[in-house]
Amino acid sequence: MEQKYEAVIGLEIHAELQTRSKMFCACPADYAHAESPNTHICPICTGQPGTLPVVNRAALEQGIQVALALHCTIPPLNIFARKNYYYPDLPKGYQISQYEMPLAVNGWVEVPVGKEGTLQRIRIRRVHLEEDTAKLFHQGDRSLIDFNRAGVPLLEIVSEPDMHSVDAVLAYAMHIRNVLRYLGVNSGDMQKGVLRFEANISVRPAGSQELRTRTEIKNLNSFRALTRATAYEIRRQIAIYESGGQVLQETLGWDEEHEVTLSQRSKEHAHDYRYFPEPDLPPLQIEAAWVEALRAALPELPEARRQRFIEAYGLPVAEARILTAEKSLADYFEAVLPQTQASPREVSSWMIGEFLRHLNERQIEVEAVPFPPQALAELLNLVAQRTITMATAKEVLREMFESGAMPQVIVEARGLAQIADEATLMPLIEQVLQENPQVVESYLNGKESVFQWLMGQVARATRGKADPQLTRQLLQSRLDALRRSRL
Ligand code: ADP
Ligand code: MG
Ligand code: ZN
Repeated sequence: MEQKYEAVIGLEIHAELQTRSKMFCACPADYAHAESPNTHICPICTGQPGTLPVVNRAALEQGIQVALALHCTIPPLNIFARKNYYYPDLPKGYQISQYEMPLAVNGWVEVPVGKEGTLQRIRIRRVHLEEDTAKLFHQGDRSLIDFNRAGVPLLEIVSEPDMHSVDAVLAYAMHIRNVLRYLGVNSGDMQKGVLRFEANISVRPAGSQELRTRTEIKNLNSFRALTRATAYEIRRQIAIYESGGQVLQETLGWDEEHEVTLSQRSKEHAHDYRYFPEPDLPPLQIEAAWVEALRAALPELPEARRQRFIEAYGLPVAEARILTAEKSLADYFEAVLPQTQASPREVSSWMIGEFLRHLNERQIEVEAVPFPPQALAELLNLVAQRTITMATAKEVLREMFESGAMPQVIVEARGLAQIADEATLMPLIEQVLQENPQVVESYLNGKESVFQWLMGQVARATRGKADPQLTRQLLQSRLDALRRSRL
């Protein structure tokens, strides 16, 4: 049924900026580490009469850098606007935001969508600066309020309605998070609420170009909530059209527990907010030279890093893409490289194979890996030096994830060192041959394929520690000798 319809999705992303002070006052912006509620506050961010806001230059710089990374144009004139509404977490009774003259417009990104990773271009409509609200805590029949977050710089990134699948939404959201992290302006820690999504969704008959009535799902604070809510809402709207109904333009919330979208209110319109230019702040003139200086100071971004990984390390495109999709993973990879004898391709395949498998299994991020890059480097050195086998290395890595211990320590404590001396291996090989006379017989009669099976028996007898190269050599010479003695 879904092929009859096409989903149309635009995202609004709110990202707190990691500046030292708040957007319009000198209070510290890092509310997560405040000693107690309502300590990072002053007359400006609590909206006392007679105070005046001052624009935070660092927030502007970070915002411009994000906009440049998203290929936006920075108009020379930038105007703050008052967005008027009442809510207890909004001390002034209005939010200073931007409306008609935002910080940046007309950008785009290209993101790999779905399993095939087909690159898809998604246009960015605008990027603007505003301030975060205070935090409300509801306790039984009373509510508490903490103003430490009020006035923290918030960057809003608004896409065009260019996404047509949940996969595209996820790829776009992950890309934006990654860019923010590469720029060091946002930690991307969604559990702490520093990055929040709103999805605008409509569905239309496949092949049509019209923009139908949309709904907006507020406050999606994880990729899981974003994708589940989007998928649910697409299905809900299709079902409405299928039964001959009409989708209402409204604002929805996502009920995490029951996995349904719920109506919060009918959609508010721009005119409800009575936007007007903020009289307490002068229009900002953004000089081209300043923008160019900020552009020149941009750090390496995901696309460039991916390209460098391909060219400098000879990695396949798919591997380079996986490694650079998360800054922390790419950093880890590049921290391992100079400390190991293993080649970049070997390190890459270990990281994409075993390393990522453990992260997925344990549901942890790179930051939570309990051992430093040096430990992985040394593990690969043990393999390169043939101190341990590949099979053992996988075993050791598992233990490193469990205990965080260094590989040499694990190898020694558990006696995992590779058996690579003839004196130890030869008797084991003799034993395997003696215990399997029929197999040896069939080998001598020309069934060479059983050689591998015999190798496996030796590996088993040593619990994977036998050096495969030496084992092969010794086994071969032993069988050759038997064959000769038959002639
Ligand atoms: P508002 O400011 O009222 O939220 P905007 O026109 O600025 O509305 O759009 C907000 C978001 O909604 C943008 O990301 C835009 O791409 C998206 N959007 C607009 N129209 C549609 C539609 N018909 N279907 C899906 N998304 C839409
Ligand atoms: Mg909106
Ligand atoms: Zn303040």
